[in-house]
Formats: sequence, structure tokens, C-alpha cells
Amino acid sequence: MTTPSDRRTFAIISHPDAGKTTLTEKLLLFGGAIHLAGEVKARGQARRARSDWMKIEQQRGISVTSSVMTFERAGITFNLLDTPGHEDFSEDTYRTLTAVDSAVMVIDAAKGIEPQTRKLFEVCRLRSVPIITFINKVDREGRPPFELLDEVADMLALDVCPMTWPVGMGGQFEGIYDLVDNRLLLPQGDSREFLGKVEQYRGLDDPDLANTLSEEGVERLREEAELAVAGYADFDGEAYRAGDLTPVYFGSALKEFGVDSLIDAIARHAPPPRPQPAEPAPVAPGDPRVTGFIFKVQANMDPNHRDRIAFMRLCSGTFKRGMKLTPTGHGKPIAVHSPILFFAQQRELADEAFPGDIIGIPNHGTLRVGDTLSEKADVRFTGLPNFAPEILRRVQLKDPTKTKQLRKALDDMAEEGVTQVFYPEIGSNWIIGVVGQLQLEVLLSRLDAEYKVAAGLEPAPFDTARWVSADDPAELTSFMDLNRTSMARDRDGNPVFLAKSAWEVGYVAERYPKVTFAATRER
Ligand code: GDP
Repeated sequence: MTTPSDRRTFAIISHPDAGKTTLTEKLLLFGGAIHLAGEVKARGQARRARSDWMKIEQQRGISVTSSVMTFERAGITFNLLDTPGHEDFSEDTYRTLTAVDSAVMVIDAAKGIEPQTRKLFEVCRLRSVPIITFINKVDREGRPPFELLDEVADMLALDVCPMTWPVGMGGQFEGIYDLVDNRLLLPQGDSREFLGKVEQYRGLDDPDLANTLSEEGVERLREEAELAVAGYADFDGEAYRAGDLTPVYFGSALKEFGVDSLIDAIARHAPPPRPQPAEPAPVAPGDPRVTGFIFKVQANMDPNHRDRIAFMRLCSGTFKRGMKLTPTGHGKPIAVHSPILFFAQQRELADEAFPGDIIGIPNHGTLRVGDTLSEKADVRFTGLPNFAPEILRRVQLKDPTKTKQLRKALDDMAEEGVTQVFYPEIGSNWIIGVVGQLQLEVLLSRLDAEYKVAAGLEPAPFDTARWVSADDPAELTSFMDLNRTSMARDRDGNPVFLAKSAWEVGYVAERYPKVTFAATRER
């Protein structure tokens, strides 16, 4: 029988070019799903479910195949959720991280921690998502392993625990030693590039190591590995699952080193579905009621259709095709007749999903990011964050008779997490906020194509935004009254302080110590 403990739902976080795509392909390959020419081909009976979603993609022009990838190995089902690889990312990326139980952080051995790695890591930290680190591209010249480990430890304030160790890098690369299982992964063939044999040893002092590695290699491995084992934290599963420690694996996604160890690590150490924060009480995966939340809504790329796919993470219960689920707080029950199930490796499972699985629900815009769906509408998941936008723009409507359409469009897109919208308390110049430039282009082209609203964007007199709150409502009211020209409401009516600079936020926060200025808001 399938239980929640058989599921590992995770995402890969990285900076562009670190090797996320390559690693994803290799995970699918090693995990038994064959990845060919950009398309995931699952084995055997999975075809039915696969063709279901392919059909939906064709009919509606929505690409969902790569949003969730599932593979199975040794009785464990792995759900890998894709986060867009583009440098400009929307809140979609962030919110996807609320739907996973753990993450793999890919780092380029030559570059170390890069800006986007760090940003995404901070999102994981908000929810204490445990991280396994994969230091990629050791087949090329990289920075010394110690330097990389120290950087992870210092920049991210995490304990690090090396689980494998590279024997040299680049031209001197001779293989990867598994410090836990005492196995040596060796390159093969004349080019000595791709993963070949795996040899078992009794330990680092095993004299047989000299039969495989060069004299220099053995010496280097012993010296470095002993220092590493002594100098860094021991592996502690509890500290890892609390998000305080990261086990580190070295490898080369391209040359297939360390991919197997990574899958094993996820199976062995990564947490199965966790209880999810909710009101009135957290929901455990073993709870028999079917519950889930929408973490992503993907709009149709074909403007003639208004269909959307809402991605729901199942949090508890056994979902069955055709089941009725009710969005909490708004709307009537909806019968989920044609869910897109990504995990179907066997035909008899194709109509069911379990906690940790993702279900794609086609709808006409009724389902919104952050919605809870459940059988009785008696629970609401919390903790899907909104992020302070980094780019603010004033929306300029070219045809003043289209105000209503514009508002609808801005609200819709805010719901999807494409952009945020702020309605100033004074004046009618609506302001939109995004975390990446690309979102501005998406916004304008969708306003035009889907909503037939011609609009322009102009610089806003503000640079950043903070959600404000206070324990004492009088404090908040007084703050808002005194700063009315800088106050706005988000689409849910929450008060937002618009600031001219990060410096101003600091300055104002100091003057109003009883008001909280939050860069993220939990929905
Ligand atoms: P993404 O942007 O993070 O998805 O990165 P990609 O997977 O597209 O990889 C970026 C580039 O790095 C591509 O040219 C890959 O072939 C290359 N690459 C990825 N992994 C490795 C590796 O382990 N070794 C080497 N030498 N190159 C790699």
C-alpha cells in the first residue's frame, strides 16, 4: 500500500547555468523515467496519464509536462517540482517552494554561491525547508572544496557536512569518494570522463586505494578527507530536517558522477510529506480528509481560451478522480473530473493521488494561488508568502473607459502571482510591483492580448513596499494617517507602505518601533 512516507516532493534551486537542467535530466534517467529530446517519457503503463496531459496541452496550449516530474526508485516516488530557470522569476518560483518538503541546492564548483541561489535559499529558510547541497561540475577546474564548503557555511549560516569528496578536480580529477559508504566512483574509458566502475573499500586507510588512484591522488584524498571529516559537522538527520545542516555531495551532472548518491540521499534523508501549517490546526499527511492547496496557476498561452491549470499540492487523504473539493472561503464545490496526474507509473494508480503528490486542475479562473481545497471546506492552509516587489511601476491607462477591465486584469494577475498590485489611498494611479523585469513584459502583453486593455508603465515615485501591521490597532491607524501619501492597499485590502528607498524603510521603521514592516506577507 502507498503511504505518505513513500513520497519525496522536492525542488532544485540554483543560479542559471549551475546545471539544474542537466541534473534534472540525469535524475530522471537514473530514476527510471527516460528523458529524450526535451520530453519526459515515462515507462509502460504511464502512457495513459501521460497522453491525458499531452492532450490537454494541445487543446489548451498549456505546457505542464515540465512543471512536475515524477520518477520511482526502490519503492519511493519522487515528485520533482520545476522552478523556472530564468533569471527573472515571478512569485511562482517562490510559491513552488511552499509546495515541497525539501530542496536540492545546485552550486557550480567554479562559482560557489550566486545571487539567485541565495535568494531561493532564503525562501527555503522561511519555511525551514531542508536542503541537500550538490556541488556540480567537479570534472572541470573549480574552487577548492574547503573554500566552497566554508562559503556555504558562512554565507547561508548553515552547518555543512561533506558526504562525498572529489579526488582532484578538472585535469586532476580521479573520481569521487563516498565518505559514508567508502565507495569510490571512478571515471572510465580513455577519455576518463564519464562515470564507470564503483569500487568498495574498507575505509580511507585501505591500502587497495593505491591500486586504483595515482600516488598523488591517494595522498590528496586521505589528507583532505580526513581534514574534512574532522573539521565539519557530523551528519545529523534531525538538524538537516530542521533546516540547520546541509549534507554536501560533490558531482558532475554532465558526466553522471554523484547523481546516484544524490537520489539515495533524498530517499534516505529527505523528509516525507510534512504536516502543513493551517487554521484551525496543522494538517498531518495521515489525516483521512482530502486537503490541498494551490501553489501555482498556469494561464493559457492561447489567448482564445481562458482556461487555467491550478497546481494543487495534496496535503492529506487519498484523492480520487471525480472527487468534489471546495475552495475555502469562496465558491461552490468543484468536481475534479479531469485532474492531471503526474505520477502515474502504474495504471491502477492513475486515478488516485496521495499526500505529497501534485494534481493539475483545469478551471476557468475560479481557483487562485493560495486557495485551500478540501472535502468540507473546514480548513485553510496558511503561510504562502507574498514578497516585497523590487520593481514598482505606475500603470497608465490609455483609454479611460477601460478602468474596470484594467482593475479586473490587475487583480487576476495578482491572483496568479504574476505581479502584485497596490491601490494607493490617495489618487487613482495604480501601482504594480514585480520581482523581475520579465514580469513587466508579461503583464503588458497579457493586458493587451487577453484583456484588450492598452496600457503603459511609467516610473513610480516609490522603490519598494512593505506590509505594515501592529499589535495595537491604534498604532497602525496613527501611522497610516500620518503617512497617507505613502499608503496603499494590496488586492486583499492589506495596508502597504510604499517607500522611496530601502533607506526610507529603515528610517521610518526606527521612528515607529511599534509598527512591523514586513518584506513578505503570509497569506
Ligand atoms: P541550468 O541553467 O542550471 O539549467 O544549467 P544547464 O543544465 O543548462 O547547464 C549549463 C551548462 O553547464 C551547460 O552547457 C551544461 O552542459 C553544463 N554543465 C552542466 N553540468 C555540468 C557538469 O557537471 N560538468 C560540466 N563540465 N558541465 C556541465
